[in-house]
Amino acid sequence: MDIKFGGKRALVTGAGKGIGRSTAKMLVKCGAEVIALSRTQEDLDSLKKEEPAIQTVCIDLCDIEATLKTVESIGDIHLLVNNAGIAILGPFEEAKPEDFDKIFSVNVKAPLFIAQVVAKKMIASGFGGAIVNVSSQASKKALKNHILYCSTKAAVDMLTKSLALELGPHQIRVNAVNPTVVLTDMGRLGWSDPAKAKPMLDQIPLGRFAEVEEVVHAIVYLLSDKASMVNGTILPVDGGFLAQ
Ligand code: NDP
Repeated sequence: MDIKFGGKRALVTGAGKGIGRSTAKMLVKCGAEVIALSRTQEDLDSLKKEEPAIQTVCIDLCDIEATLKTVESIGDIHLLVNNAGIAILGPFEEAKPEDFDKIFSVNVKAPLFIAQVVAKKMIASGFGGAIVNVSSQASKKALKNHILYCSTKAAVDMLTKSLALELGPHQIRVNAVNPTVVLTDMGRLGWSDPAKAKPMLDQIPLGRFAEVEEVVHAIVYLLSDKASMVNGTILPVDGGFLAQ
């Protein structure tokens, strides 16, 4: 698939590691001017070393005021990838209000309000744009000890659909990708123990977890003009997990 983003500016959150980092690098390869936002400066420094053209922004999305000020200052964005996310796992009985606030701040509040700042500029420019939110298979199927995480990702799916509805008339498409387990730092947190991984693998018809690149390809497709009529989609990248 020949995808070119020449002349486009892209903002990727959570670009220091994992899926976000690879997405930022792929967008550069496709010709976009990329702004990589993340929380750990060393990750951004090493990314910049690998891809000197990338601009980096070090900020914690939990500080929503500073985040929105920064995003506002970045200028026009044509492609937004709301990728940053955290997982706080544990049984329902042990969930804490402060964990609820933290995970909803990063996984739901930040994407919503970043999209608001970016979309206002897209609307003012009149050129439209594309937004991809990185959700999860966990939005659609309850997973044991994932009550906070699953709840945030269900919210991300509805956020995606609501934005698609409201922004569509401005030629701004909004879609989500919903991966199965990917063995990034986050994926390893929940699934590196073979005793936990096996029952999950048994429910994935393709019999394996996803590779980072497989998620990146779905994101890049949804951002591109090849998906010009795709809006409000929740796209599983899950080897068939959600088909059952
Ligand atoms: P990683 O933990 O590997 O990377 C997440 C990135 O987001 C890191 O660079 C991290 O920075 C950054 N980040 C996290 N919190 C903040 C914050 N408050 N402010 C700024 N940056 C932040 O995760 P993945 O690449 O695996 O996950 C990316 C997305 O994919 C997430 O939304 C996740 O929910 C989703 N997903 C992941 C799956 C998996 O199995 N890995 C499966 C399904 C969905 P730092 O390290 O400095 O905190």
